[in-house]
Amino acid sequence: MVPAARAVLDMAAFAHNFAWIRAAVPDSRIMAVIKANAYGHGLVRAARALPAADAFAVARVEEGVVLRQAGIAQRIAVLQGYTDEEGMRLSARHGLEPVIHSGFQLDLLERLDTRVPMGVWLKADSGMHRLGLGEEEFARARTRLARMPQVCQPVPVMTHLANADVTDDPATEIQLRCFGRMAGDGGEFSIANSAGLMAWEAARGAWVRPGILLYGVSPFPGRPGPEEGLRPVMTLQSRLIAIKHLKTGDAVGYGGDFVCRRPTRMGIAAIGYGDGYPRRAATGTPVLVRGRRVPLIGRVSMDMISVDLTDCPTAEIGDTVTLWGQGLPVEEVARCADTIPYVLLCNVTQRVNMVET
Ligand code: PLP
Repeated sequence: MVPAARAVLDMAAFAHNFAWIRAAVPDSRIMAVIKANAYGHGLVRAARALPAADAFAVARVEEGVVLRQAGIAQRIAVLQGYTDEEGMRLSARHGLEPVIHSGFQLDLLERLDTRVPMGVWLKADSGMHRLGLGEEEFARARTRLARMPQVCQPVPVMTHLANADVTDDPATEIQLRCFGRMAGDGGEFSIANSAGLMAWEAARGAWVRPGILLYGVSPFPGRPGPEEGLRPVMTLQSRLIAIKHLKTGDAVGYGGDFVCRRPTRMGIAAIGYGDGYPRRAATGTPVLVRGRRVPLIGRVSMDMISVDLTDCPTAEIGDTVTLWGQGLPVEEVARCADTIPYVLLCNVTQRVNMVET
């Protein structure tokens, strides 16, 4: 039996996107961001597909442990996770590098009993005001860390940009200047996410931390990945499971908020919000059938969507329906659902069969 919904993962596209980043920033080392199940693509699969990555970044200690248990040997930074004593011990035992962003974590680190010094990063809050230490606390933390024999020296530093995808936003320049003052000269540092490495040369530095670019998706609204030379890794597909002929005036689906304005050949595809397709995708959101764009009509259900096949008269039951990916940028679908591509990729559920090509 053919599974209803599947996400086809183009592993050659993964390698291509990594090489694209390498060419864009030849002088930086690449910390591939594969948190959140590699933005829905599979954590271990993604790590194995990127043998040339200089390091990986995850959000939680547990994600790092899974990578180690799968035999991943590169450096692994843990970007955000709350770390208690157990988390700190696990990090040390598995050679994970927590990003230290609070006095609370410094206290834990000070009490850590480890035979082998542990790698850590220190995070500066240069203006995003999410995680990280402000200027004075950062300087004090640096001095404290420098005195800890349980920590690998020197400690590399990082920050995160709030607005790097707005290419002329002065807030990024302010953040870069602030981080420059905090980091000082020399030493390893990391600033840039995908947008940062593309749009802000001063953000490149020794390490870059791309996430979304790896998956073939652009961080910039209105500039889909393929236009930048990237290739989408995930193509989400389903099948037509029913076709009906509706009359002018017939209402479609829950709430009946789509009403046919003409005799309509309607198709039902076996995919819905239970698979991660966004419930807020609006009427008119494109899907691909037989290489043609046809519009979604009516509300998205848990297991199904309705599409207007009137202009695709040859479509039949069993045909593949592409929701995003090759031929239909996820960026475009995200816009129609009033969200961002990151959300769509992360939200693909376990019911969807993942297939590598
Ligand atoms: N660095 C940090 C601290 C992040 O939180 C993220 C993603 O959320 C990234 C890097 C990667 O961002 P992007 O996927 O936009 O490249």
